Amino acid sequence: MSVARIHWVSGPVLRARAEGSFHLREAVRVGARGLLGEVVRMQGDDIAIQVYEDTTGLRPGDTVQGSGLPLAVRLGPGLLGNIFDGLLRPLSGMASSHLEPGLREAEARFFFEPVVAPGARLAAGHAFGTARSGAGLLQPCLLPPDVEGECLSVAPAGEYADVVPVCQVRGAQGIVRDIAMSHVWPVRAPRPVAGRLAADRPLLTGQRILDSLFPVALGGKAAIPGGFGTGKTVLLETLAKWCHADVIVYLGCGERGNEMAGLIEDFPRLKDPRTGRALMERTVIIANTSNMPVAAREASIYCAATVAEYFRDQGLDVALMADSTSRWAEALREVSGRFGELPGEGGYPAYLSSRLADFYERAARARTLSGAVGSVTLIGAISPPAGDFSEPVTSHTKRYVRSYWALDVRRAQARFYPAIHPLLSYSENALDFAAWWREQGNPDWVELRRRFLTLLDEQARLERMARIIGKDALPARQRLTLLCAELVNDAFLRQSAFSETDRYASPRRQTRMMRALSRFIDLAERALGAGIEPERLAATASFRRLQRMGEDISEDALEQFDALEPAMEQELAGLTAGSEAAHAT
Ligand code: ADP
Ligand code: MG
Repeated sequence: MSVARIHWVSGPVLRARAEGSFHLREAVRVGARGLLGEVVRMQGDDIAIQVYEDTTGLRPGDTVQGSGLPLAVRLGPGLLGNIFDGLLRPLSGMASSHLEPGLREAEARFFFEPVVAPGARLAAGHAFGTARSGAGLLQPCLLPPDVEGECLSVAPAGEYADVVPVCQVRGAQGIVRDIAMSHVWPVRAPRPVAGRLAADRPLLTGQRILDSLFPVALGGKAAIPGGFGTGKTVLLETLAKWCHADVIVYLGCGERGNEMAGLIEDFPRLKDPRTGRALMERTVIIANTSNMPVAAREASIYCAATVAEYFRDQGLDVALMADSTSRWAEALREVSGRFGELPGEGGYPAYLSSRLADFYERAARARTLSGAVGSVTLIGAISPPAGDFSEPVTSHTKRYVRSYWALDVRRAQARFYPAIHPLLSYSENALDFAAWWREQGNPDWVELRRRFLTLLDEQARLERMARIIGKDALPARQRLTLLCAELVNDAFLRQSAFSETDRYASPRRQTRMMRALSRFIDLAERALGAGIEPERLAATASFRRLQRMGEDISEDALEQFDALEPAMEQELAGLTAGSEAAHAT
């Protein structure tokens, strides 16, 4: 292998004079300790390397060893249920708050069972066996996307280490490849699919404001910009727990170690609400906290996308949560700065935008090489400095995501959670999901959604006016609009992540709540027409019942909605009749 000699070191990056051939993106070993690094720039025989481990002690004159291969990670049955660093090396200290690179539990062993026989023609990405873990979790073993051919031999059922070859395949030109239960794949190369599919259905999250107003597509991309403490991490964790994905890849990228520790302590204890098993069984956590090497943070985001694609290729729906892409961008900025590149907007390198595009491009719903359908949905938090959404990471991300969930400081300060601002947020896909909602028994979803959004929009306009002339000076019709908008906020958009009953709302419950609110608005408008003051409507039992319905009506008691509407009609009709009677006398 080629060798290079270091002539300059600056923090996590270095330059070396190559004494053989190197490739861009090649993985290298640096110095006597064999630190993992990657060639990130080349100019003649001068190569620039970013190092993924602590470079203390490295000096000019030390050597760099080429590997001839791109930076890659090992993908296999050992991923689920475990915690890794930014380059997918197992982390020890699962139960403690102190994470450090540790040894892989001796050797990951799985029970292999073949599903093919010698002589079979195997296409790329097809299953050749299954791997069962000690805990009983069964996963398919698929050929890597770049291997196909005739099966020459396959190991008998039994327990093997995941790195030991269990299948031999003869491919084109007679090249024989040994295949283990796990395989290695370069992190920066998206895994191929047979074809992309339309993003025509949402990834259900159980969060009303998202599913009903600003949905994200299954295989779509969403961003969560929000200043410090506005609830990005809580929202990502809520999504990880409740969204309808088969596999969760949670990337803690450059956030403080103690925040990550909360997640790491929490997750293994949590039950998967849908299967009753441990949530961790279908979760992969990648932690590259702020105390870990900064260059590894840059790679971690691609690494997480590669892991997500690996499970997508098994025909699964995968959700990748990244907290936060701003810390990733800061790593990019630091590395770029150390190489002396010309800084662009906000000090970030000019290629910030295209790197963000590369990441979000990896979201898709797709037909896999083996003919299954799987998806990767990407959800990235953004922490704009001083909560300023016009900064570069937020504004560039906006170009690539289709769902944008802006967290609002004022809402968070008022402890209105989730603090997603309904006027700053959007979903460009929403109307594509009308057919899906119809199948869920909500043919009026588009209309109901429009009604809520219009109401919230009106509210902002009227509140501005009320600040000038005073709320009491507004005409009754406008006071009613404000009242209804507040009701939609309190009863529908607000949803506590910590409430047993309300932290998750099924599409059916969301639909029933939307209908009940819409019905109330109709009745209230009719009452207004009959001369009832909005303030009297706010004092009704119906109004209070709607305000509390999230807490009061649980998933398994949806029939309570049946009684709610007639009771509302009766109460409001009673007001109207009373008022007409009063007029008549
Ligand atoms: P960020 O990651 O944006 O800095 P966090 O997610 O850590 O913010 O949220 C900060 C605090 O706000 C949390 O510790 C919690 O007390 C509160 N919080 C955030 N979201 C919610 C929520 N959905 N329900 C209840 N409390 C929340
Ligand atoms: Mg956070």
